[in-house]
Amino acid sequence: MRVPIVAGNWKMNKTVAEARDLVAEMIPFLRDVQGVKTVFCPPSPALLPVSAMLQGTDIGLGAQNMHWEEKGAFTGELAPAMVAEFCQYVILGHSERRMYFGETDETVNRKVRAAQAHDLIPIVCVGETLDENESGRTSEVVSRQLSAGLQDVDPASASRIVIAYEPIWAIGTGRAATGPDANRVVADVIRPALEKLFGAQTAQAIRVLYGGSVKAGNAAEFFAQPDIDGALVGGASLKADEFVKIVYVARAEVLKGGA
Ligand code: PEP
Repeated sequence: MRVPIVAGNWKMNKTVAEARDLVAEMIPFLRDVQGVKTVFCPPSPALLPVSAMLQGTDIGLGAQNMHWEEKGAFTGELAPAMVAEFCQYVILGHSERRMYFGETDETVNRKVRAAQAHDLIPIVCVGETLDENESGRTSEVVSRQLSAGLQDVDPASASRIVIAYEPIWAIGTGRAATGPDANRVVADVIRPALEKLFGAQTAQAIRVLYGGSVKAGNAAEFFAQPDIDGALVGGASLKADEFVKIVYVARAEVLKGGA
């Protein structure tokens, strides 16, 4: 039984004061939700104050990136131990990091292994561009991102890894994949790639989220899919009522026996 995750990636939005307001608005509705794991991923300056606000709740906290080295001359970066002081999760390999900051499958791989070494749960993002999608290369691209990004990770803790399937053409565009299409990629590409890396049992235990223009209005379509175990939510995670509704839709699907 995979407990679904609804994670909010706030990206480079919200000052500390704004983050506090947003979290304060959501906590009463999300603090005790059962059967769905809620995770907030605010920008770095908000990690400490938000972690204090989340004490005593079931809501998880994640960073949006980190470096793989333990410490040293890496100006502007966050070390794994710094993230692990406040967070349980870390988003790795988001397409915006790959596109604007030169992340590669190799750097994602180093980060995943560093996260494992620090007991952090990595949310590893994979997904194809519009061009790759339209030229029928989704399977090739996503398989490569997984086999290279997860190579040599510790199989003993591989089941804790979370994958986010985020077709790049669906991120921030308002043009989401359909539930069945996203499920097909997860079932036919992602789980087989995970099985090749870690065996069938672990591949079935790993949670795979969908990300890309998820809103309260379309969330059920994804959560109802058998191979999709929640969502990584960008834009809609910045609005308290919208994000709370998405978590509640996930909860309703769990009660129905879906997500
Ligand atoms: C994201 O950036 O991970 C994302 C899914 O963004 P949005 O929900 O805004 O498409």
